[in-house]
Amino acid sequence: MQGRAIKDSYDVVVIGSGFGGAIAASRLAQGGMSVAILERGRRWQNSDFPRTIGQVSESFWTRGKYHGFLEYRAFKRIDVIQGVGVGGGSLHYFNVNLRPPAAIFDRGRWPERISRPTMDPYYELVEQMLESQPLTPPEGRDLPNRTRAFQTAGSKAGYAPELVNIAVHTRGARQNPRSGVVRQPCVYCGNCLFGCHVNAKNTLDITYIAAAERDHAAEVFPLHLVDCIEPIGRHGYRVNFRRFRADQPRVSEEGSVIGKRVVVAAGSLGSTELLLRCRDHFKVLPDLSPALGNWFSGNGDFLIPGTADAAARIDPGQGPSITAKLSHSTGDNIITIEDLGIPDSFLWFLEGILPPRHSRVTGWIKLAWNYVLRSVGIAAGQGRVSDEINALVQSGRTPRFLPYLGMGTDAADGQLRLVDGEIDIDWSHKNSRKMFREMEQILKQVSQAAGGRYCTSPLWRWPLRKLLTAHPLGGCVLGSDPEHSVVDHRGEVWNYPGLYVVDGAIIPSALAVNPSLTIGALAERAAFWMLRDRDMGCEDSDRPVALGGQCRSQLAVL
Ligand SMILES: Cc1cc2nc3c(=O)[nH]c(=O)nc-3n(C[C@H](O)[C@H](O)[C@H](O)COP(=O)(O)OP(=O)(O)OC[C@H]3O[C@@H](n4cnc5c(N)ncnc54)[C@H](O)[C@@H]3O)c2cc1C
Ligand code: SF4
Repeated sequence: MQGRAIKDSYDVVVIGSGFGGAIAASRLAQGGMSVAILERGRRWQNSDFPRTIGQVSESFWTRGKYHGFLEYRAFKRIDVIQGVGVGGGSLHYFNVNLRPPAAIFDRGRWPERISRPTMDPYYELVEQMLESQPLTPPEGRDLPNRTRAFQTAGSKAGYAPELVNIAVHTRGARQNPRSGVVRQPCVYCGNCLFGCHVNAKNTLDITYIAAAERDHAAEVFPLHLVDCIEPIGRHGYRVNFRRFRADQPRVSEEGSVIGKRVVVAAGSLGSTELLLRCRDHFKVLPDLSPALGNWFSGNGDFLIPGTADAAARIDPGQGPSITAKLSHSTGDNIITIEDLGIPDSFLWFLEGILPPRHSRVTGWIKLAWNYVLRSVGIAAGQGRVSDEINALVQSGRTPRFLPYLGMGTDAADGQLRLVDGEIDIDWSHKNSRKMFREMEQILKQVSQAAGGRYCTSPLWRWPLRKLLTAHPLGGCVLGSDPEHSVVDHRGEVWNYPGLYVVDGAIIPSALAVNPSLTIGALAERAAFWMLRDRDMGCEDSDRPVALGGQCRSQLAVL
C-alpha cells in the first residue's frame, strides 16, 4: 500500500513507539538485533503539527477516520488522554523528566530487585539522551511569568519550589546529533501539547528512534495497528496487524510478521487491551496471569485546578508547558504540584465559553457606545478605541489564572477489563480520597499565597466528581510471582518466554511524579537484561559517568 515492505521476521517486533517501545527498540537495535517497530499512529514532521482551528479539529485519533496524535477516552469516574504516533506520548507531552522519590519503590508493590539505586543508572541514560535539564531561558528572555508566580506563591506558602528537568532545547540553533534534525531554541509559544514547530522538544522520534534507524537499521512501520499476538513454538510469536492508508484512513489491509521476541509497548490501556483480547477473546495466550488488568492507577493526576484572580499577571500560555514543582510528603502520601501551561488557542476558547465577569460586560457596553459615538462624528478627535480594547482583554478570566497539575499516591486499585471487546476501567476514588483532600489543601494554601481564589479541577465538581489522567499506569504490572503480576522484574511475561511488556502498563503503583522517565528507565533496563542477562554494573563502559562509569556520550555504546 505505501512505505517500505515489512519482512517476514525480525529478531524483535516492538508494538508501539512511546517511551517504552522507542527506548527498548533503540537499545536492542544498537545491540545488533533486527528490529521492527509497529505503530498505529502516523509519522509527524514538525511542520505538520496542528495550529489552525481546522488542523486542531482533526488532531484526535479515531480508528478509521482521523490519524490524529491525541486520544481522549471517557470512562466511569476517570478520563484518559494519551498520545498516538511515531514517538508516542513524547510528541505532545510537557517534557518533564522526573525521578520519583526512593520511598515510592518501598511502598510494597515493587519487586525487591527494583529500587531507586537499581534504577539510577538507567534514569541517567534517559536524561542524557533526552538532554533533560532545568529551564535556562533562551537568549533575551526571562523565566515565564507563570513560573515566577508559582515559585513566589509556593515559597510564601512554606514549600520549596524548584525548576524541574525538562527535555527542551533553549540555547542556539543546532543539529540534533542523532537525527541530524535542525533544532531552534524554544520560542516560548506554549504549544507543547500540539507538538513543537521548531523542534525544541527532544521527542523520541528525533532522538532514540532516529538513532536506531540511522545507525542500527531499525525499521519503523507507522499506521500498523496490532490486533493479536500468537505463539508459534520455538520460532517466537506471530503478530497480526491492520495496515491503514495515510490518505484514506478508512482503508486498511491485514498482515502479519514474526518476532523471535515481541515487546508489547502500546501504553497502559493499549497493552492491557491487547493481552486481554489474546487471553479472553482469541484464546491464543491462555496462560497469561489472572492479575492481568489489575492495579490501574491514574498516578493521582489532578488536572487544571488553578488560582483565579492571582495578584500577578500569569499569562498561562507563555513558555514550556511545565517548568517548576513543589513536593510534599504527608503521613501517608507523596504529592507533587507543578505549574501547568495551556496553549493560547485553548485560552481564547475558554474566554469564549466562561461566563463573563461584570467588568467585561460593562467593558463591552463602553466599547460599543464609544464606537458608535465616534462613528457618527460625536466625540470627534478621540477616534482611538485602543483603551477600551485593552480593558476588555484585561478583564478576561485567563490572564491572571495560574493553572496546576497535581500528582500523588492514589490507591492504584483500578481494574482494566474488556467490555464488548474494548478496554474499560472500573475505578473509584474512594480509597484515594484522603490523598486528593491533602492535595487540595496544598493547592488552597498556594492559591492564597498567590493572592487569588482557589478553583478545583473542572471535572471534580459536583455532580461529575471525575478525574482526568494524562498518566495511565498499570494493568500488566511487574512483580515477583505470576499470581499477582503479569511480567517479571525485567518485563518478561510469565509463562511466555520471549514475550515482554515494556511501558506504563508494568508500573505497579502511582509514582506521584510525571512517569515518562521511569517508563524510559525501565525500558533501558529491560533491553540491558535482554542483551546481557544482568543489571548494569560499575565495570560497564555504558554506565553513566555521574555514577562512576565512563559514559559521557548521549547514546551509550553497547
Ligand atoms: C498532554 C500530556 C502531557 C504529558 N506530559 C508529560 C510530561 O511532561 N512528563 C511525563 O513524564 N509524562 C507526561 N505525559 C505522560 C506520558 O506521555 C506517558 O506517560 C507516556 O507517553 C507513556 O509511555 P508509554 O510507552 O507507556 O506509552 P505511549 O507513549 O502512550 O506509547 C504507546 C504507543 O503505542 C501505540 N499503540 C497503542 N496501541 C497500539 C496497537 N494496538 N498497535 C500499534 N501501536 C499501538 C500508541 O499509538 C502509542 O504511540 C503527558 C501526557 C499527556 C497526555
Ligand atoms: S514552548 Fe513548547 S512548543 Fe513552544 S517552542 Fe518551546 S518547547 Fe516548542
